[in-house]
Amino acid sequence: MFGVTILGNNSAIPTPTRHPTSQAVYIDDQVLLLDCGEGTQMQMHRYKIKRSKINYIFISHLHGDHYFGLIGLLNSFALIGRKDDLHLFAPEPLYGLIDLQMQLADSEFPYTIHRYPLKEEGEIAHSNTFTVKCFRVKHRIECWGFAIMQKQKLRKLNIEEVKKHLIPTAAYYSIKKGEDYMTSEGNIIPNKLLTIDPPKGKVYAYCADTLFTDSFLHHIADADMIYHESTYLKDMEEKAFKRFHSTAEQAATIARRANAKRLLIGHFSSKYEFLEPFESEARQVFENTEIAREGVTYLLK
Ligand SMILES: [Zn+2]
Ligand SMILES: [Zn+2]
Repeated sequence: MFGVTILGNNSAIPTPTRHPTSQAVYIDDQVLLLDCGEGTQMQMHRYKIKRSKINYIFISHLHGDHYFGLIGLLNSFALIGRKDDLHLFAPEPLYGLIDLQMQLADSEFPYTIHRYPLKEEGEIAHSNTFTVKCFRVKHRIECWGFAIMQKQKLRKLNIEEVKKHLIPTAAYYSIKKGEDYMTSEGNIIPNKLLTIDPPKGKVYAYCADTLFTDSFLHHIADADMIYHESTYLKDMEEKAFKRFHSTAEQAATIARRANAKRLLIGHFSSKYEFLEPFESEARQVFENTEIAREGVTYLLK
């Protein structure tokens, strides 16, 4: 499974029904947490996301609506006796802040936090099933987007050819991994003949808080799903620009220019009670747009 559950879709001020930014990305047996605004733990509880599944956390920037929930979550990990290592990717000053909070509480984490200060664009994390790249977006302070790429599965057997060459089942796994097959007479049957390409791994690109800019388009090109912030509607375009945020129309323009298949929009200003106008504004530019609704899981299909 590869999908994202929205835990918070609001901008800075929480409302009774909308929370600051956080998203849980499911990829096979892992859950990756993207940002961790205030209330993230309660949202995880509400939507049944197991804390123990989270081994990777990515913080885009140090505006509070993206990390005020983090110290609480790290503390809960300690209280429930976590032993597994945690991998934390964030702008460097965040680590000093965590250290200060722990120092003031005269406490230590009973598990290891591996620190990865975000400094350069490129690959920052990988496992058997995914790769994560970070890229710079344009915000009032240093801010990073993340592209999560599912690794390609094993190659598929071309059953007709496999049967024709009387290949034993014991050899299937190495062939699926891409190896050629050698017959008992020493003849090589090339892998290309015995297999077909597996489906391409899907890509989810999370663009965090950003003003409208083409500068990171190449990092999100052809993504299967993009999340782009949409703090305001287009009648507030000037305000969006001044505050380094985007409108729904601008988010949709980025999705179209990036040739994305699908767009999620979020980070809505608390001043908007209803979200439907965001969807209709964006759909005029990019039809396959959806509002990132809290509690909903969007699958990459
Ligand atoms: Zn924000
Ligand atoms: Zn921000």
